[in-house]
Parts: sequence; C-alpha cells; structure tokens
Amino acid sequence: MSSDLPFNLIRRRGLMMVLSSPSGAGKTTISRRLLDTDHEISLSISVTTRPPRKGEVDGRDYKFIDTTEFNLLVNRDQLLEHAKVFGNYYGTPRLPVEETLGEGRDVLFDIDWQGTQQLAEKAREDLVSIFILPPSWFELERRLMSRAQDDPSEINRRMAKAADEMSHWAEYDYVIVNRDLDQSVQAVRSILLSERLKRRRQVGLSEFVTGLKAGH
Ligand code: 5GP
Repeated sequence: MSSDLPFNLIRRRGLMMVLSSPSGAGKTTISRRLLDTDHEISLSISVTTRPPRKGEVDGRDYKFIDTTEFNLLVNRDQLLEHAKVFGNYYGTPRLPVEETLGEGRDVLFDIDWQGTQQLAEKAREDLVSIFILPPSWFELERRLMSRAQDDPSEINRRMAKAADEMSHWAEYDYVIVNRDLDQSVQAVRSILLSERLKRRRQVGLSEFVTGLKAGH
C-alpha cells in the first residue's frame, strides 16, 4: 500500500466571514489580530465616501473615493454590496473577493448589518457571520470617547446608532460578547477553523475517500 495519500485532492472552498458590531465594540482590533496570525484569510478593503481619519491609509484601511466614483461603481455592478452608514456610502468591491474565493482562500469583511444581509441574499452557503457585542453600554461609550478620532457630535451620533446596529444581533450565525480581547480573538479563530472543516467546503472529499478505499 502506498503511504502517499492523495491529500491534494481535497481542496477548500473559500468562505466569506463577516464581523459586524456597533463601532467601539472591538471589531477592528479583533480583525487585525486574526489577520496577523492567519494567512489563509485576507481583508476585503471597502470603498467609502467618508473622509480618512487621522492615521488611516488609502488602500489599506479603505479606498477613499468621492460620490461620483461611488455611483459609477454601483451602476457598473462592481460592488458586491453597498450601504449608507452614518451619512456616508460604503461598499465592497466585487472583483478581489471573487478572485480570493476562487483561489480557495477566505475573505474577512468588516461591514454593517445592511451589507451582511445583501451578502446573505447572494451567497448564503459561503457566508459565516459573527456579531460582536460590547460588554456594557458604559464600556462602549468609554471606548468611543478614548478613541477620540471622531469629534464629540460624531461620537454622540454613533452612540445613538449603536442601539440600532445592536438590534440586528439575532440575524448573525454567531455572537461574541467582547469582555476579553484574547478570548474573543480565540473564539473567532475557533469559528473559522470549524467552518473551514464543514464537509461542503472540502471539495474533493469523495474522490479522496474513493482513493482511500482503493488502498491509496
Ligand atoms: P467606519 O466609518 O467607522 O470605518 O465604519 C462605519 C461602519 O461602516 C462600520 O459598522 C463598518 O463595519 C461599516 N462598513 C465599512 N465598510 C463597509 C462596506 O463596505 N459595506 C457596508 N455595508 N458597511 C461597511
């Protein structure tokens, strides 16, 4: 019997993992930690009409575009999903996502509930959605204040919006209360690992088992 099992027959079908939360719940930090350690998943870089914040880099955090460019992308059907959030437009460029999934790699999305609903309508089977909740309202406020990137009126607006965003928690596959950053990152990693092992995502399994039975 050959000791070389044809493992290469098993390929993975890439998945789309969405992280949503009210701003300030820790989603961006969790995403960064995951991306730093897992090289089979990459971040979808959204386009937005929002002006860059201090420290944000065009092409890394977002692709910053104007409303005319945004409308052009929508009209040409080049966005997989798009939504208006806090008065600005945001959208996911379609091509990079399709290319990454085609290579059997995963894509991470930091998008809101509106975008998640649109992805679910288009590709429910490929979607894994996680909602991050803050441990308390007080903590959410504290994180938004300490971030101090937005002006005070923007912070108030976002606190008001947080309640609305949080009301969508039940539409997600998984919910994580972010009490402890390390534990939350670990929880996201566990979800990702389990979802990758789902039978339908392991393409070529039946050929592999046929080979096993034939003594390969
Ligand atoms: P921020 O302006 O704080 O970076 O993002 C505001 C909100 O917009 C966040 O909830 C974020 O997840 C969401 N968002 C960012 N990019 C996209 C996108 O491409 N599509 C959708 N639907 N929401 C997005």
